[in-house]
Amino acid sequence: MNHTKSAVLLERAKKSLAGGVSSEFRKYNYPHALFYSHSKGVYIYDVDGNEYLDFTLSQGPMIVGHSHPHVLKRINDYSEKGQLFAGQHILEVELAEKLQKHIPSAELMRFCLDGSTAVQTALRVARAKTGKQKFIRFEGHYHGWLDNVSWGLTLDSEKIGAKENPIALPWSQGIANNTQDEFIILPWNDLDLVEKTMKEHFNDVAAIITEPIMCNSGCIMPKDGFLEGLRNICNTYGTTLIFDEVITGFRTSMGGAQKLFNVTPDLSIFAKALASGYPISAIVGKREWMKLLEDGTVIHAGTMNSACALVAAAIGTIEVLEQDEDTHERMFRLGKMLMEGLKEASNETGHNLLVQGLGPMFHTGFSNKDSVTSFREMAAYDKEKSKLFVSKMHENGVRIIGRGLWYISAVHNESHIEKAINVAKKVLTEIK
Ligand code: PMP
Repeated sequence: MNHTKSAVLLERAKKSLAGGVSSEFRKYNYPHALFYSHSKGVYIYDVDGNEYLDFTLSQGPMIVGHSHPHVLKRINDYSEKGQLFAGQHILEVELAEKLQKHIPSAELMRFCLDGSTAVQTALRVARAKTGKQKFIRFEGHYHGWLDNVSWGLTLDSEKIGAKENPIALPWSQGIANNTQDEFIILPWNDLDLVEKTMKEHFNDVAAIITEPIMCNSGCIMPKDGFLEGLRNICNTYGTTLIFDEVITGFRTSMGGAQKLFNVTPDLSIFAKALASGYPISAIVGKREWMKLLEDGTVIHAGTMNSACALVAAAIGTIEVLEQDEDTHERMFRLGKMLMEGLKEASNETGHNLLVQGLGPMFHTGFSNKDSVTSFREMAAYDKEKSKLFVSKMHENGVRIIGRGLWYISAVHNESHIEKAINVAKKVLTEIK
């Protein structure tokens, strides 16, 4: 593949955009420069004319594929009517009613612009409701890039302390030091440790926040009974249970992981797959919590919240997902087919590719372990080999997220899955 035009653009971009990018995560995915030009369905194209079969779905949002005609029509039609009113409009109510219908805990909601700000809204509501200040969070879970959650994402075995008493490392320079006093960090999937910690600190703990599946670190599933256990602990101690469904929302079911696992949190956050790449997210929750927003006890605001194009994009995306009752069944089936195919490709070529996850999203990495069940165990992955795999897949026209995460969309089909497996076989043979 040729990337000359991308290389020229990167040099130009670096003169105006810091690092040539608009997000840290877009910097170092591939060994060469890359600028994309357009995308359609499950394909994305770069400025040099190369075509990629897309399993990144732009980090998750493109659940109905790129440039879906129904979504675009909804956005265009509604944008003709207006863009932003600094006031209410009918479509945001229709969107809220749709989410209410699908999401078990969504008695009331508010719209925000992204996952990061919706997480902060949930924490604020939880503090106000309980009159307590701290939250419990888990190692390797990502809840956005703002200060009080930008800890515990660095896997440095020498520095992160014992599992029973973890030390959260800051993710970046410049993070306010005192934000580490806002939380207690624990390893995920260890109910005994949560119970023990709550017994000691229940007077301080306003909330437990968790990704219901640890999608951001290895796509690790919750142990049987873990989410139910968190629910019981929160009930016992008067603590708020927050599900961060930014990834699992609409992907694991229309009602998110809470519907799939039948565990209802008090508050939850939906973002990525809500609106086909348009910046809108939702904090949804039980009335008992959300009434604090209703009566203004808790302030939530934002100039651009629920702008017309964003709401129209969300309505359009949900309508496409609703059109076909089999959408999720198909995403699970295709995802599992791809997971199996990749495992077989690895076995046939003598590699140790470990494939873990649910189907609609899953993770690949090279490890001699049979399974990776915690953030700490992720140290067992061969990072260099994974990086090589991701970049060689890309070089052969299959795009996956740099850290080894794959997303299936509602518009992938069997032939796309077969193509990805064949490319993986070729790449694994070459790596050998
Ligand atoms: N929570 C989770 C689980 C996420 O995966 C992300 C984004 N990857 C966020 C929160 C933050 O969302 P955003 O990037 O939209 O701010």
